[in-house]
Amino acid sequence: MAPVISALFLSLYLLFNFVAISSQNDEYDQTTAKTMEAFSGYQIHEPPFQGSFSSLSVDIESLQRQIDELSTFSDTPAPSVTRVLYSEKDVLARRYIKNLMGLSGLSVREDAVGNIFGRWVGSEPELAPVSTGSHIDAIPYSGKYDGVVGVLGAIEAINVLKRLGFKPKRSLEVIMFTSEEPTRFGISCLGSRLLAGSEELTELLKTTVDGQNISFSDAAKLAGYTNNEDLSSVLLKKGSYSAFIELHIEQGPILEEEATSIGVVTAIAAPASIKVDFEGNGGHAGAVLMPKRNDAGLAAAELALAVEKHVLESGSIDTVGTVGILELHPGAINSIPSKSHLEIGIRDIDEKRRNLVIEKIYQSALSISKARGVKLSEFKIVNQDPPALSEDSIIKASESACQELNLSYKKMISRAYHDSLFMARISPMGMIFIPCYKGYSHKPEEFAAPQDVANGVRVLALTLAKLSTS
Ligand SMILES: [Zn+2]
Repeated sequence: MAPVISALFLSLYLLFNFVAISSQNDEYDQTTAKTMEAFSGYQIHEPPFQGSFSSLSVDIESLQRQIDELSTFSDTPAPSVTRVLYSEKDVLARRYIKNLMGLSGLSVREDAVGNIFGRWVGSEPELAPVSTGSHIDAIPYSGKYDGVVGVLGAIEAINVLKRLGFKPKRSLEVIMFTSEEPTRFGISCLGSRLLAGSEELTELLKTTVDGQNISFSDAAKLAGYTNNEDLSSVLLKKGSYSAFIELHIEQGPILEEEATSIGVVTAIAAPASIKVDFEGNGGHAGAVLMPKRNDAGLAAAELALAVEKHVLESGSIDTVGTVGILELHPGAINSIPSKSHLEIGIRDIDEKRRNLVIEKIYQSALSISKARGVKLSEFKIVNQDPPALSEDSIIKASESACQELNLSYKKMISRAYHDSLFMARISPMGMIFIPCYKGYSHKPEEFAAPQDVANGVRVLALTLAKLSTS
């Protein structure tokens, strides 16, 4: 028997070596795979998807139930929703999302700040995945659709594709971003900014505290994210994803007014914010005569009008400017304002044009302070994020999804900014909008019709399918 056994080992050894050597040769590899498929009856290579996308069916009843259930994790009574970063309700809502991801067969991971990722591994997992997602935090007394549609809808889009028997080539990943809203720490899109590689923010967070003087790190620890001393692990490299696409309610009235089902976003406007302080001598409102005054309040008023003028001069309706805060000191009817403070927001989809407006506002602030004899004690550009353009290939994939699904659509600009603005720094980006009631958002009346949500999920599912096979 012994020679037979050693002959068997020898032939196995030779066979193993032969396959090992030949696997360096692609052509041979394919032949081997075919032979092995034929021999074993098991598939080694996935066949291309043969089904039809026309039957994409969204389980809108379950999805609506999930939207309703998620809204109950709130610190204010229904219909309002208040869910602030790392609060008890936020932690419960996060658990709810992770559970749903698990039920959809996604492998779930969380990073050090609580960005949550659910991955459906594709047949070629070494390729950069396609990702989609949004946020579930909600500012005080807001509604239940902002962000949520892009997280629960993304999980349902995966379910839709799974029910269809579709197999992605690139892995598909659903992301729930931490703290899109700036409510607790004054930093918007905290999770996506970090993911997109903001080392500045990793530094800033070391000293960031909330209104109760609780540090970011302690708040994260209380929510279960104990390993947040070194946030560099959160940062992702450019190219980590082959595409990122976010489904979101429009938060504006256009789609509803025009009875259009889908908005395909071509660009996201980005804000710059400026803080300005003027100082004058103040004085008694009766005693100081008009020629003797240097009124910091009037300087602020004049600058507010200059903001409007410079914004309008840009000639584009995409340039907008707002003086959202104007404070006077001491704030008494019988006292000439000795100090004034303005906070100005300027948004545009064109960074150069927006920055030109900021420069003009600065020049006006200087000339107003000179003419009125007040001191321009501060002119500070607090943030100046660059706007982002959607990637052509993603716009096209979404457009053809709408056409194939027979849904009306229009290309549009996102005037509010989203996690997508930051994901665009590390990945080709796109967004899909659905109509919402009267454009309401950030208030309890926020509403999107189930049919519109379902349409958005279908377009997302089909777009993901296209992007995952390209
Ligand atoms: Zn949002």
